[in-house]
Amino acid sequence: MKKFILLYSIAFSSSFFAQTFIQSYQNRVNQISQTNINTYLTEFADLGVKKTGSVNNNNAFNWLKSKYISFGYSEDQLSENAFIYQGNTAKNLILTKTGTKYPDTYVIVCGHYDTIVGPGVNDNGSGTSILLEMARILKEIPTEYSIKFINFTGEEQGLLGSQNYVQTVVNATSPKMNIKLVFNIDEVGGVAGKTNDTIICEKDTSSPTSNNAASATITQQLMNCVVLYSPLQTKLSNAYSSDYMPFQANNEVITGFFEFNESTKPHSAADTYVNMDPVYVYNVGKAALGAVQHFANADTTDLSTADCPPEKMLESLKIFPNPAKDFLQIEMMNYNLKDFSFMVTDLNGRTLIQTKNEKQINISKLSSGIYLGTMTVEDQKLTKKIMIKK
Ligand SMILES: [Zn+2]
Repeated sequence: MKKFILLYSIAFSSSFFAQTFIQSYQNRVNQISQTNINTYLTEFADLGVKKTGSVNNNNAFNWLKSKYISFGYSEDQLSENAFIYQGNTAKNLILTKTGTKYPDTYVIVCGHYDTIVGPGVNDNGSGTSILLEMARILKEIPTEYSIKFINFTGEEQGLLGSQNYVQTVVNATSPKMNIKLVFNIDEVGGVAGKTNDTIICEKDTSSPTSNNAASATITQQLMNCVVLYSPLQTKLSNAYSSDYMPFQANNEVITGFFEFNESTKPHSAADTYVNMDPVYVYNVGKAALGAVQHFANADTTDLSTADCPPEKMLESLKIFPNPAKDFLQIEMMNYNLKDFSFMVTDLNGRTLIQTKNEKQINISKLSSGIYLGTMTVEDQKLTKKIMIKK
């Protein structure tokens, strides 16, 4: 929720790399699924206007909780932080993933899930979906620092949830909670019909200024990760008016993402799925997951890829149902460890559908008949006959 004022617009110079590319980070980034992102966004939309403290707001809280549980997290890893807004209880949801080396030092990754006036699919269903997808993929990945994924509410009423969290948890813990950095993701949905290929990376330029240099350093690292792990370009700007600011005021080190093409839809009934760009959310998710692994020092070993030659993966390929009507499901061993692409052609060899890393293929536009489905993993291909019956 904010008006975009580009105070700083400094093009990123690719010659300045503070980090090197890590293949295992990229492999996990490649597990981000466009299908999952679309599902989260549409389910978020279906929850309606999620005004802080409302029934819908509470339903969204429960929806988030059930998502984390479905990813395999336990109830103990989830906690809530409640406050009263206009006589109603509103709750932040916190997922804690304990670090292996610095369990008491936290990388906080946050975004608000409350909306105002409209369903808020961009502001901030986009950031919410990215938090979910990152938590899903990192479930079994050890990180040296602890990570807290925090879904805040009360953002639209003036950062109430994040303020409450800083007061009642961060500063109420003895000793005070040790925070490595706060990475906020708010309104990264882009604008439908535009080329959404750039993400704004935000650094602290506010008072107190004691952590501004540290914020500049991690924001530079964030920008490096965008370039290393996603197809997006970066623009540097300043942090303001979102959930990192109560942390900023508390002298924590902050950084954040905000869309470059700024939508006019947030805070209106038109902040819907069709008015934003789900592919942009997918790409911002890649950048975010690269950065979170970097910030939390995720494990860099990736032994399982070595045991997964493409021929073996293709041998296990199943495409069903057969005949199919609207969707094809794909099953393949270790599918999440390597990029794969799937192509549907007709018997004249014309390409009708082409997808990347998708397990569910929408074939609703194809009419009844026989088609060929070709799966490609690295340089290996396998073609199977597909029957479609309407
Ligand atoms: Zn927002």
